[in-house]
Amino acid sequence: MKKSILGSISLALLVLALIFAISGHLASAAERDLRISVLAGERANAPQPNNPGKLRIIVFGAHPDDCEIKAGGVAAMWAAQGHKVKFVSTTNGDIGHAVMAGGQLAKRRTAEVKEAAKVLGIDESEVLDIHDGEIMPTLENRKIFVRLIREWKADIVMGHRPNDYHPDHRYTGVLMQDAAFMVTVAFFCPDVPQLSRNPVFLYLSDRFQKPNPFEPNIVVAIDDVFEKKVDALWSCQSQIESLWATGNFEKVIPVPKDPAGRKARREQFRNRYVRRAEALANKYRAKLIELYGRKKGNKVKYAEAFELCEYGRRASADDLKKLFPFFEK
Ligand SMILES: [Zn+2]
Repeated sequence: MKKSILGSISLALLVLALIFAISGHLASAAERDLRISVLAGERANAPQPNNPGKLRIIVFGAHPDDCEIKAGGVAAMWAAQGHKVKFVSTTNGDIGHAVMAGGQLAKRRTAEVKEAAKVLGIDESEVLDIHDGEIMPTLENRKIFVRLIREWKADIVMGHRPNDYHPDHRYTGVLMQDAAFMVTVAFFCPDVPQLSRNPVFLYLSDRFQKPNPFEPNIVVAIDDVFEKKVDALWSCQSQIESLWATGNFEKVIPVPKDPAGRKARREQFRNRYVRRAEALANKYRAKLIELYGRKKGNKVKYAEAFELCEYGRRASADDLKKLFPFFEK
């Protein structure tokens, strides 16, 4: 009898001890969850630790001239207002030449885009050490994109659409999309603090129709900085003497050394970008009029255009005007 009472008491004590132990564990787990959620809440409410009042923009182009071609004008305009712009070439351009390749070409192209950045007045131009023609949408590269966007504390991220003729453009577009949510996730690449506010992601313009054509949400007049953009592109001489610029994939057509020949080649080169920028302005004239008003919109000669990516932060037409502060009437 005594034995069974003692047995019941010790069983009861054991059960009580177990209840305390479990509730203690639960409390500490709940506390921990609460701490995490408070931290996350604090981060969500904190402003992006940006340069006060200044926007931070990062542009991903696949090759050392893509950012300059697609967004050189708008970058110069942001820079002139004191906003911080970084261009990233996601490959080093080390095969895009008729007779030159490898490290020597990569070095030459890196120097060229750094010079172009100076001309545009932007803060940084970085060339990733990934071979031209070889970028893939891997986990490793996703982490590189996420870290770059976080380190720049970007408000705006731009890059190619994933429907494009060139695999480097396509996968740069995919990698930008892949980063569009992960930049806010604390425990993905925890070595670089996540962004408390997701940036707005936008696509650079292109002419590809399938599966869907480029449809800009924002078209910017670059008339005032057009010559500066051409000057910046002229810095990329290795691109000018070969392949795309010459249409000759087998030999180099050097830029002439004599002043008259050089001037003529420069003019020919400028005209190529005149045609491109005029074509964009004319194609998206209705959007220019919507943004600038009829009078000003009709006068725009040269334009660059950008389309909102569905991922990343949502931006209304008014939000976009704040991010592209060029539309005061
Ligand atoms: Zn390219």
